[in-house]
Amino acid sequence: MQDDQTNQPSGQSGNASAPASGGATQEGSISKGEGNKFLVEVDQNICIGAASCVALASKVFQLNSENKAYVVDPKGDSDEEIIQAAKSCPTNAIKLVNKETGKIEYP
Ligand code: SF4
Repeated sequence: MQDDQTNQPSGQSGNASAPASGGATQEGSISKGEGNKFLVEVDQNICIGAASCVALASKVFQLNSENKAYVVDPKGDSDEEIIQAAKSCPTNAIKLVNKETGKIEYP
C-alpha cells in the first residue's frame, strides 16, 4: 500500500445516505441529471439492463424495477467514474454532455 491520497473533495466522502433526489429527473424514456461536469442521460429505450454502469458508478446509476438504468444522483461518483460507466455500456445508452461547452463527450 502506498500513501497516495484519493482525490475526494474534502468533507464529502460520499458515504452518507444520499437523499433520493440528487437532482435527477425523468422525461419519457430519458433519465437525466446534472453532475459536476456533465449532464448525464440514460436512454431507457436503449438500456438492456446489463448493469455495468451500476457496477462502475453505483451512486450515480441504479436499475429500476424494469431493469432499466436511471440516474440516482448525478454527483454521486467522480466524473472519471461516470465516464468509465458510460464507456462500459454495451449499447451506449448513457450520454454525457459537457455542461460548459455543450459538447457531447460520450458517445
Ligand atoms: S450499462 Fe447501459 S445497458 Fe447496462 S444498465 Fe447501464 S445504461 Fe443500461
